[in-house]
Amino acid sequence: RQRLLEVKHLQKHFNVGRNLILKAADDVSFHIYRGETFGLVGESGCGKSTTGRTIIGLYQPTAGEVLFAGVNVHSAAGKQKQQLTRNMQMIFQDPYASLNPRMSVAEIIAEGMYLNGLYTGKERTKRVHELLEMVGLQAEHASRFPHEFSGGQRQRIGIARALAVNPEFVIADEPISALDVSVQAQVVNLLKQLQKEKQLTYLFIAHDLAMVKHISDRIGVMYLGNLVELTTSEKLYQAPKHPYTEALLSAIPVPDPDLEQSRERIILEGDVPSPISPPSGCVFRTRCPVAKEICAREKPSWQEIEQEHFVACHLYQ
Ligand code: SF4
Ligand code: MG
Repeated sequence: RQRLLEVKHLQKHFNVGRNLILKAADDVSFHIYRGETFGLVGESGCGKSTTGRTIIGLYQPTAGEVLFAGVNVHSAAGKQKQQLTRNMQMIFQDPYASLNPRMSVAEIIAEGMYLNGLYTGKERTKRVHELLEMVGLQAEHASRFPHEFSGGQRQRIGIARALAVNPEFVIADEPISALDVSVQAQVVNLLKQLQKEKQLTYLFIAHDLAMVKHISDRIGVMYLGNLVELTTSEKLYQAPKHPYTEALLSAIPVPDPDLEQSRERIILEGDVPSPISPPSGCVFRTRCPVAKEICAREKPSWQEIEQEHFVACHLYQ
């Protein structure tokens, strides 16, 4: 399979003053195949949004590189850069904050087309109408403003805006977290349907494994700026390897009563440490129920323990 995106040893640190460095993403490596949905999961503050924003070029990485169809996202310039910017789009968590309240829906959706020189006057209007219908909204509502729509409808507008410039790759950063449970499934289904129609590749960011379970082909689990496990959805749910993944999974209610008995709830002690002073060795060791002596001394390496199954944990090294 063809790799559309390659993230290699990506590091993003922020200088937060007084010589303090916030290690938002510390050494993140993964790839995304063309046409798949890759889920990136972890608690808030684990660095998943920073990783997404760095991938798309909103941040310059501290170290490492991101290749999109073989092109380095952060050193591309001119036409190539413009092409990349168009090709990689983002859907944001908060459909209230991410739409300019002073712009009509038509203006919001057409802005990217305008900036990228796509389509001309009349065609652009026609395309706005098509996009609105594509996401399940009425074309006649193009002249309305964001506040006239519900949360779910605004997220549909956000999706139309992202797809207006015909991207190949879309990062959805917690696109349903701010929505009512009743509309979450509708938005996920819309994203799936559009993926099929437009052959899109998704990076789907979420704080909850239950949310990405159904939509993702493969899933990466992040903890305190590091990927700790990565494999196919099936493997992750059936045979998780990392103690943190096991704990996350144990928190998901299982509808099958047989399974429920076999999966005991694991409650993690303590809080996530600060990314300004992460623990030595394994970043998870202060909360790991099975930590060993070596875990404080040595950082476990990122290893492919079987095909398509990566884990960073001393239990498997
Ligand atoms: Fe737990 Fe050690 Fe594995 Fe980290 S490396 S998850 S502390 S067993
Ligand atoms: Mg976030």
